[in-house]
Amino acid sequence: MNRTVCTSMLWSRAFGACILKVPRPPTSSVAWVVPVISLSSSRFHSTNIKFRSYLQYLKRKIKPLSGPPYPNVCQVGDPVLRAKAALVDPGSVLGPEVQEVIRTMVKVMRRFDCVGLSAPQVGVPLRILALEFPERMLDDCLPAARDARGLITVPLKIFINPQLRVLDGRTVKFQEACESLSGFSASVPRYLSVEVSGINEKAESVTWQVSGWPARILQHEMDHLDGVLYIDRMDSESFININWAAQNE
Ligand SMILES: [Zn+2]
Repeated sequence: MNRTVCTSMLWSRAFGACILKVPRPPTSSVAWVVPVISLSSSRFHSTNIKFRSYLQYLKRKIKPLSGPPYPNVCQVGDPVLRAKAALVDPGSVLGPEVQEVIRTMVKVMRRFDCVGLSAPQVGVPLRILALEFPERMLDDCLPAARDARGLITVPLKIFINPQLRVLDGRTVKFQEACESLSGFSASVPRYLSVEVSGINEKAESVTWQVSGWPARILQHEMDHLDGVLYIDRMDSESFININWAAQNE
């Protein structure tokens, strides 16, 4: 890994976004779009939509729409991201539905190179969060950045019905991003040190005290369970489109 990109990767990869990736085109309709002759023609536009709709219909006949948990990350505007997630019945944690939600969350988190994910982000309004900061991501970061931000590796952790307690009420601001607001980033104040308690994917009681970057991830994911996004807490002047500079090239 080229070390010159590490700093930018730090606040991109280290908080959920795949910022350095080339944005993917929408997967749902690209294959169906008829070559555009004149965008100003409303008649053509209408025909195009009808054509797409018919092809979408055929596509769905072959592969029916599936409900949540989704294999993708829900984007801002989706009501599920603004709802207060419900408690999970502890007796259902080992059941197939909850286990499927957890499996999907982990798969999506790894697929998008996120370091944390909440169940609402895969369309499930339940109080479940996952986090993981693997060695390879830490290796991408400069030593100075590791120290400044308190980066450490974190093996996969699942918290169900988590409760957060602030251990150190001082706050620190760093740039963070969210896969549910793909393409943007902002500086957000977070507490230095927190304790989270809840149950894990094996229905065991767990408590974890943590500082630095994992504490930031936890606070970000806990917010998702209450319908709060980082844009609600950000320093608004720091809000950026991560590709703003490239637009001027
Ligand atoms: Zn997020």
